[in-house]
Amino acid sequence: MSEVENRESPEDAEYRLNARAWLEAHAERKTGVDDWSTQRHHTDPDALRAYFERCRAWQRTLYDGGYAGISWPVEHGGQGGTSTQSRIFAEEVAAFDVTSGFLSSTIMMIGTALRFHGTPEQQARFLPPLLSGEEAWCQLFSEPGSGSDLAGLACKAVRDGDEFILNGQKVWNSMAQCAEWGFIIARTNPDVPKHAGITFLLVDMRSPGIEVRPLVQANGAQHFNEVFLSDVRVPVEHVVGEIDGGWSPTRTVMAAESQFIGGTTDRSAAEKLAEVATRLGRNHDPLVRQRLATLHTRERVISWMSTTMMNAVRRGEKPSVSGGVLKLFMAENRVRIGETATMLLGPAATADTDPDSEWAQLELINRFSVSIGGGTNEVQRNNVGERDLGLPRDIRVDKDVAWKDVPRG
Ligand SMILES: Cc1cc2nc3c(=O)[nH]c(=O)nc-3n(C[C@H](O)[C@H](O)[C@H](O)COP(=O)(O)OP(=O)(O)OC[C@H]3O[C@@H](n4cnc5c(N)ncnc54)[C@H](O)[C@@H]3O)c2cc1C
Repeated sequence: MSEVENRESPEDAEYRLNARAWLEAHAERKTGVDDWSTQRHHTDPDALRAYFERCRAWQRTLYDGGYAGISWPVEHGGQGGTSTQSRIFAEEVAAFDVTSGFLSSTIMMIGTALRFHGTPEQQARFLPPLLSGEEAWCQLFSEPGSGSDLAGLACKAVRDGDEFILNGQKVWNSMAQCAEWGFIIARTNPDVPKHAGITFLLVDMRSPGIEVRPLVQANGAQHFNEVFLSDVRVPVEHVVGEIDGGWSPTRTVMAAESQFIGGTTDRSAAEKLAEVATRLGRNHDPLVRQRLATLHTRERVISWMSTTMMNAVRRGEKPSVSGGVLKLFMAENRVRIGETATMLLGPAATADTDPDSEWAQLELINRFSVSIGGGTNEVQRNNVGERDLGLPRDIRVDKDVAWKDVPRG
């Protein structure tokens, strides 16, 4: 039994044993070269779709087994458990070759927004199929002219009786090609400053007028898409929060996204690197040991921050730890992991095809997904400075200006 398990209450220790037994019965243990749980870059759209459906089936298995939404309230389709139980399950499942993949991130993002801002009808309609994976979601926020300056977005939603009509373009929409639903933010009032005229809507991706075009990356992967919306009709009852008040659920999504990225519990990279160092006979090198110790310490700090945040969110309180700090910590860790792997493996880290080298290559490439996706490091630092530390705000020339009067390129 590990040191962590020793400190657990008898109830939590029992939960861990039950979870482990359930996992043994429903999944295969990781064997080193993992077929499924290792994130790979699929270059073939059919292979990507098959992988997505496999992740969806695992989410369904979790749901049926009582391990989806562990710390969500029962009335929201969850298990009513504790955040400690969530963490225990995440630690246990990390040893098995299974994953819900991208579904986990959208469950966290739109699930949290619906729990805090959705109507009871929206919660009853959308949360159970979200948790079971029956309905997959994508995030339709970024636009060609609005990434970091998200509130400057131009996609329009115009009211027509009981519906809104959407027109515009979104970009960088992860896995939109596989999603049944999207959560989108659109401009409903151009006559007020940018944050005040945005509405948050739930859009059926199978609606007439939606075109999803995959963006092929340099390595052939097709993770992202452009989404074009032409006269797409969305019922008014699919507005989350207030009309023109969509910035509030948007911030909830962004905080949940930071928390998700920061709190992703995978196998400890420090442990993995220690194994590689031992295999290569570098585990007595003081420089290597120092790097591994730093990574181990930072992993523990990330885990502590993540648990503290989850506990506060579960109690409906403002977390004492900022999501921005957690995400920045994670993004910087990914850089350190990639650098340490490269230091240990040398040229093999970029050119070889053995499992350790492939893992190092993924770490090197994927670090950008954490330092850009969900808000870049620079923007996170601005937010931490202004919101968490109370430093003077950046100069904002568009602060009290109606969105339609803000000059844009
Ligand atoms: C892996 C991944 C997944 C993603 N998935 C989605 C998704 O599913 N849905 C979606 O809507 N979007 C998604 N995105 C898009 C992501 O949200 C944007 O890329 C991100 O917000 C940055 O916007 P941008 O790319 O337009 O860069 P820009 O905003 O153009 O920024 C360019 C550079 O300028 C810097 N910069 C900008 N403003 C400031 C400032 N005020 N102060 C200091 N520096 C600044 C930035 O840090 C950056 O280095 C994803 C991105 C990645 C990498």
